[in-house]
Amino acid sequence: MDFVAEPAVLAVTGRMGSLSYGASLPDLVAAYGEPVAYGRVHKKSRWPHWFGFGSLQMVFCRCRRLDSMIIPAWREELELTGPRPGELRKVDSRITEGALAAAITDAGGRWRSVEYENLTNQRSLETEPINDVRVGFAFTDRQSYDSPPLDDWILNKVNVRGFSHGPCPEPDRSLPDDGYGVQEPSAVDGLSRSQPALGHRVPFRPDRGGPAGQQLQGVLGG
Ligand SMILES: [Zn+2]
Repeated sequence: MDFVAEPAVLAVTGRMGSLSYGASLPDLVAAYGEPVAYGRVHKKSRWPHWFGFGSLQMVFCRCRRLDSMIIPAWREELELTGPRPGELRKVDSRITEGALAAAITDAGGRWRSVEYENLTNQRSLETEPINDVRVGFAFTDRQSYDSPPLDDWILNKVNVRGFSHGPCPEPDRSLPDDGYGVQEPSAVDGLSRSQPALGHRVPFRPDRGGPAGQQLQGVLGG
């Protein structure tokens, strides 16, 4: 399957396989195997916490529900979950705005275009597949800083966010701790310490995503 079909389905349904806003971490572990822990969102609290499945980066809240997700398309080659637990498959994330828009239309979806007054080389398509869930597709006008502008802009990042989660329910203290979010990975510790709170305007990137990724700093994620 061409990768463009998957973000198009995400745009229309809010789902990418078992991944969706509100998905439970234990269910995702059952579907995809153990995640990579990237660290805390806030220095002083274990939750919310960053995890990754393949190239996908997501924040879970204390009740182990998926609160937001990023597809780092600036990396060009992505590792996505599946088809079986613990397996990853490589896809080429370089898809154009025209191709994605056509695929969303084919899937019966609608979107709005978001432009940024002070950033003329970036814009986004945004969908609201279900109430209180938004999927944003950020595009840049070139592959990298030193490449020429493109007629059809290229996908840089996908962001899934939701707004329906109220106060996190108190954990059941009679149950044993699952251990998620306890261990801080030393390799990305410094990064995790500096991660913004969810909803801030600087995207989380546990690695260096390349020039196209950097162009979007300050625009997305908010
Ligand atoms: Zn919660």
